[in-house]
Amino acid sequence: MSRHVIVTGASRGIGAAIAQQFIDEGDRVVALSRSGVAPEGCAMTIAVDVVDSNAVNAAVKTSIGEFGPVEVAVINAGVTNDGLAMRMSDEQWRDVLSTDLDGAFYCARAMMASMVRARKGSIIFIGSVSPFIGVPGQANYAAAKAGLVGLARSLAKEVATRSVTVNVVAPGLIETDMTNDLGGAKDQMMSLIPMGRIGQPSDIAGVVGFLASNHARYITGAVLCADGGLSLGH
Ligand code: NDP
Repeated sequence: MSRHVIVTGASRGIGAAIAQQFIDEGDRVVALSRSGVAPEGCAMTIAVDVVDSNAVNAAVKTSIGEFGPVEVAVINAGVTNDGLAMRMSDEQWRDVLSTDLDGAFYCARAMMASMVRARKGSIIFIGSVSPFIGVPGQANYAAAKAGLVGLARSLAKEVATRSVTVNVVAPGLIETDMTNDLGGAKDQMMSLIPMGRIGQPSDIAGVVGFLASNHARYITGAVLCADGGLSLGH
């Protein structure tokens, strides 16, 4: 299809699977991450920390200069820094909020202007089911991901008349570096998944691919949970 697609946090995990899927479809994928690592076949790779809004603006400008207006923006970069709220430091709180929420806003702001001018585009945030189910030890992460929903739904209304859609994919428990060190808590969470298995990055990439496709052209402001039923509760 050869669309200009930007994926943040494309160096590994869910972001790498998303980038790979667009590459396989023939799109020109620009991969952003701190390390600058990216799946083979990306059209361009830029090392950028999404917490730095000037660096984000510069990276997006470079990408647009090379490939034209952004057609699909997948805002996926994220971190966790868990701890019970009573013992959570200011740094732990800010670390997660600044990457997962501030960084997401900086990326969306930088990428959406070219979409609005071109009168087409799709912005997809990678959220989480955390704010919907509540996860002890993840007050910072759940707050950031809840913030993404408000951000996405407000942006959706701001750009709807320009045929730009804005949606959130909320994964459940997915097998990546982020969940590797959960230890026993992982087994406990697994037992809460009605489908009885942990998700794979490709399970999320498929949903993102759908939202970026013409089949989803009338969907905006939506939050799609891809979680094997985890958020259904008991
Ligand atoms: P990983 O830890 O495997 O990968 C995180 C990615 O984000 C890496 O590419 C990393 O790149 C990038 N990144 C982190 N901080 C920054 C930053 N400041 N600037 C630029 N890039 C950054 O995580 P996952 O693949 O598991 O998670 C991807 C997204 O999915 C996140 O938003 C996460 O919250 C969300 N999610 C994950 C779930 C899971 O179970 N795994 C469940 C629900 C949501 P590098 O290190 O190279 O900078």
